[in-house]
Amino acid sequence: MTNMRKGDHRLIQELNRSKVLNHIRREGPISRIALAKQNGISPSTVASAVQELIKEGYVSEIGPGSSSGGRKPILLRFNPDHHHLIAVAITNSRMLLARMNLEARVLAKAEYPISGVKGEAVAEFLVEHLDRFLTEDGVQSTCIGISVTVPGIVRSDEGIVLYNTKLGMNRVPLKRMLESRYGMKVWLENDMNSVVLAERQFGKYAYANLIYISIGDGLGSGILINETLLHGKHGGAGEFGHTSVNRGGVRCECGNVGCLDSYISWMAVYSRILTALTSGRTTQINELTGGDYTRIVPEVYKEALRRGDRLALDINEEVADHLGAAIVNLINMFNPEALVLGGEMGRDNEALLEKVRLYINKHAMPILREDLVFGMTSLGEDDKLIGAAAVLLQDLFGFSLMES
Ligand SMILES: [Zn+2]
Repeated sequence: MTNMRKGDHRLIQELNRSKVLNHIRREGPISRIALAKQNGISPSTVASAVQELIKEGYVSEIGPGSSSGGRKPILLRFNPDHHHLIAVAITNSRMLLARMNLEARVLAKAEYPISGVKGEAVAEFLVEHLDRFLTEDGVQSTCIGISVTVPGIVRSDEGIVLYNTKLGMNRVPLKRMLESRYGMKVWLENDMNSVVLAERQFGKYAYANLIYISIGDGLGSGILINETLLHGKHGGAGEFGHTSVNRGGVRCECGNVGCLDSYISWMAVYSRILTALTSGRTTQINELTGGDYTRIVPEVYKEALRRGDRLALDINEEVADHLGAAIVNLINMFNPEALVLGGEMGRDNEALLEKVRLYINKHAMPILREDLVFGMTSLGEDDKLIGAAAVLLQDLFGFSLMES
């Protein structure tokens, strides 16, 4: 349970420091006097905050700027490379590790497939590779912390992976385990929540009300309302893939029947491709994979779409119909300013984006869709790593009125 902090002296100091740092980061190079004026803070408060930030290496002085007369003021700029962070993105099939700067740029990365690793062993697998990564990395002194993202139900406030069926994780206190091993601060968040933050902070979707929809192995979403991530009581908000759309549908691993996940996900598409192939339907997917079913991956499917393959187009159309209906529900429920499509199957799938856009224009309430932005993810293939970085950086640069 978190409590509101009282308006004490230290709180005000932190607020001023955070305002100053954020302002330098966004508007720099900038002078102390401009910082004071633009933030409505006294010059002496700005001076002491800046002194602290320079000492810690977050900010540095560069040459004098222009002046309308008198002495030219010294300009300050943000130093994104003086410190770094470690980002860990766990998916249901692989683990990505990266060292990143404070602008969420990847400096070094490694990738490990997770196969057959389940439950607590996932944490051991992570520690084993993280040990090696940090040793090779050799710059722990400038590391400000580790940020980990995991699919499934994550209690980010307590740092616990509550539930992930595919990885068999059940109440794994990952934050505590890593903090006691490495002696540095650890952040833990659901992967979709991290990516919606990243699109807001580092992508091209700077909206306070933003929904990210990912079609990968499964279907997931991250929901940002009034700049705040929607977590719900247990961290389970946004489990979009497990909204039921067919009471007569197949039983899902979550316990429900007819979950959206079994209509819109790579697993659903893959099984439809296999059914078509075994029934003898001709498709370019056969030529693209040399008839090897194990080589059928989202990239192959998207290539078949680009080539105008009839089977791929038919499947895409079915997915678009389901997705369109589901997205209209999200629009009516949350009234977002923008919706972003991502995940291995969503990314670069322009045909899907266009079909869903048509569906939205036809079926969403006119007032809610008027100026709605619906676009493709802007983060590229490092999206989950940038997501992990965004979680940490939002905490570092943001300011919370809740005690941690
Ligand atoms: Zn389900």
